[in-house]
Amino acid sequence: MTDLGLPGIPSRRNLVMEDGLAFATHGHHFTAEPGVDVRELARRAVAPLSVIVQVTKRCDFDCSFCSEVIQLPDPTPQQLETMRDNLKGTRRIFLSGGEPLMRRDFGEIVDMFADEDFVLAVPTNATHGLQHAKRIAGKIAFANIGLEGPRGVTNRVRGDYDKVMPGVRALQDEGIPISLSAVVYRSTLAALPFTVQIADVLNAGKVKLIMPLRKGNALNLAEHEFITDDEASEAFGRLTELRSTYQWSPALRLTTWTPENEGHMIVVEPTGKANAWPVYDSKDLFEPIGNVLEEPIQEIWKRYRFKENHYRKYLGASIRTIGHGGGGSAA
Ligand code: SF4
Repeated sequence: MTDLGLPGIPSRRNLVMEDGLAFATHGHHFTAEPGVDVRELARRAVAPLSVIVQVTKRCDFDCSFCSEVIQLPDPTPQQLETMRDNLKGTRRIFLSGGEPLMRRDFGEIVDMFADEDFVLAVPTNATHGLQHAKRIAGKIAFANIGLEGPRGVTNRVRGDYDKVMPGVRALQDEGIPISLSAVVYRSTLAALPFTVQIADVLNAGKVKLIMPLRKGNALNLAEHEFITDDEASEAFGRLTELRSTYQWSPALRLTTWTPENEGHMIVVEPTGKANAWPVYDSKDLFEPIGNVLEEPIQEIWKRYRFKENHYRKYLGASIRTIGHGGGGSAA
């Protein structure tokens, strides 16, 4: 605690892993030692760097870009235990949704996964932050808050800014590091500097900019809301300049949907079904690769055909990055 009774800024702590890999807690990203051959690292790996586990599909928002609109029953605690056991060897688990904090037993789920050697992160809209912050503090590396910047923009494309912000403050009051994720439309480009300014005021470790994927609610988006890769690159360049001019501290990350990023994520649905995501010509952009209720992730990893994309993305080699070591690191 500082003299003013405010939570101190979390130190930039590195969790060192084998193979020249580290995870920087404050920057919320993986790094590799300089000169490491990412392709070789991916080839030798026996498990993923990062897996997204959907602990529920329920959500209290209905974002205009949401891909996860099909409902499935929540996995039971016993099923989550089996998934956890079968995910051993994975470096980081995103306890995700839907909106994961909708689960009343979310604190117990965090305890269950924290017992193992995972780095834990929680993507959330933060509206239930107050209910869970105390219980999960110190157990997760960071919470990644979805926010499209100022109230008018967040309310239009996501949910309710005034429900998000108290939750963000509750998480921060407990010392939980945060990052922000913003989905980028053509009509939200002008708001991006405000988003980074908000992130700076909140002392967020990074701002992740993501393009919408054509699935779920995003199938109803107007065509002009999808920007091209070149436009995204230009917007990122402008933000990078502004970041320097205004000395904003959050790192910036931009992921676009190019062949190099295809299938780089592994998403586990509430049924245990593991999918490569996004696979551009697959139904629902999911390519099924196994089920973590039935077999260990190491077996699933063997037949996962996007290993290199996975490693390249999470080590920042296939996305635009600035800050916290620039191109050698990423979330
Ligand atoms: S994008 Fe996230 S916060 Fe928005 S409706 Fe979907 S699950 Fe909920």
